[in-house]
Amino acid sequence: MNVLPIAQIGEPVLRERAREIDRDELATPETQRFIDDLVATMRHARGAGLAAPQVFRPIRVQAIEVGDNPRYPYKPKIPLTILVNPTLTPLTDERFENYEGCLSVPNLRGVVPRYVGVRVQAWDRHGAPLDFEVWGLSAGTYQHETDHLDGKLFVDRVSDPRTLCTWEAFEKHYRDAFVARVEALVARFGA
Ligand code: ZN
Repeated sequence: MNVLPIAQIGEPVLRERAREIDRDELATPETQRFIDDLVATMRHARGAGLAAPQVFRPIRVQAIEVGDNPRYPYKPKIPLTILVNPTLTPLTDERFENYEGCLSVPNLRGVVPRYVGVRVQAWDRHGAPLDFEVWGLSAGTYQHETDHLDGKLFVDRVSDPRTLCTWEAFEKHYRDAFVARVEALVARFGA
């Protein structure tokens, strides 16, 4: 497995709509190796997720995993999930304020409104259909990663640019209030 270079904000690949792949392309050893590399890169960078365009490959594939992540110690765990050609549908109009960061946007965080519940329809890495609901903070993670497949970055969705901050300033000034919000969400939705 290889750790791949991560595209940083300003790279045109982060602004393209990534293309769907079909089951034949998904099944090739080359694509399967790429998915292994995507996971290895996400883990190496300690991300909660990584989308293929972030490693310079504009196809609709993303990985999500939250274990014991020192970058996000307050996040509910999500087992390794590979989504191919995902579609998200909001299950409610209700949104919460997520403090997001991104491996493609170095040392910046900001508040992004996200739906508290989404339906996820996709294939797994073997082309088997997936259809499930995600609620709470984890729903924000799915929305963030799927945005990458449409050429969107979290900074596009920050409704108040005054919330933008470095990771150091986040820890110093905003973390406690955010963790309190997260705990309330997790208490409500269990995720
Ligand atoms: Zn990101």
